[in-house]
Amino acid sequence: MVGSEKLFNSLTKTHNHFETPCGSYAHLKITRYLLRVTRDSTYGDSLERVMYNTVLGSKPLEADGRAFYYSDYSFNGSKFYHNARWPCCSGTVPQVATDYRICAYFRDADAIYVNLYVPSAVRWARGDAQITFTQKSNYAFEGSVEFEVTTSKPQELAINLRIPAWAQNPMVAVNGKAVSAPVERGKFATIRCQWKTGDRIELEIPMRTRLEPIDPWHPKTVALMSGPLVLFALTNSPRTLTESRSDRSWSDGRLARPARRRRTPRELARPGTDGSQEDWSAAMAGLDRRGSCRFPAVHRNHR
Ligand SMILES: [Zn+2]
Repeated sequence: MVGSEKLFNSLTKTHNHFETPCGSYAHLKITRYLLRVTRDSTYGDSLERVMYNTVLGSKPLEADGRAFYYSDYSFNGSKFYHNARWPCCSGTVPQVATDYRICAYFRDADAIYVNLYVPSAVRWARGDAQITFTQKSNYAFEGSVEFEVTTSKPQELAINLRIPAWAQNPMVAVNGKAVSAPVERGKFATIRCQWKTGDRIELEIPMRTRLEPIDPWHPKTVALMSGPLVLFALTNSPRTLTESRSDRSWSDGRLARPARRRRTPRELARPGTDGSQEDWSAAMAGLDRRGSCRFPAVHRNHR
């Protein structure tokens, strides 16, 4: 769709943008396989972005089989359950969740690759040594990630950390000292050492708020991003109850009557944004005139 009007038209002419659980399941699966085969971190970036901004933002599966189906990225977006019970997406939600852990780490005989920054531990046997690699972080709300090595005997091993393509000035330190190995965005940073129990790795990926055009042909249609997270604007004005929208229109894809009015990052950024930091500042100044706003991550907009 890149290079055509299809993505822009989809975002502006329909509410049915992405069949979220099934689409996420398929996307995570293909990017995971491609990452394993190519070791190209681009696929990890893509996997991460889809995970945070689609399926983790879906409404929870209900006991009666009602499930979240389409994500709605329109100006007047809303979240609602599919009107049929037990649709395809009621099956893929738990499958996607089960796969989170196999998307986080990859390894071969001489290396481990960290793809997702999530609180976790991975344990494996290498020869007659037992290795545990523990990760602590509040990513993606914060950009600091800590790892600790536990091994039954010292091991020479390459630890590869995915440095997202959007990262600016990423830094890696081992036992408090910045590494000399290259730490380049859009690649894995490789740290090869003789590791022993108690060794620590610190990764710092500054989370800078930015505007990101949907494609090079629509520079004024942008998402408000912080790290891998898409943000949305929530005003502090009193909430009002609105009609709940069913997804009766899903089969023909036409716009239904919006259920609630919520300004989107794209709308907030107009007019004349080209995705630069200066435009973001101008958009914020415009917001101040309208009243204060918060910018939670889109995956936190559950209800
Ligand atoms: Zn589905």
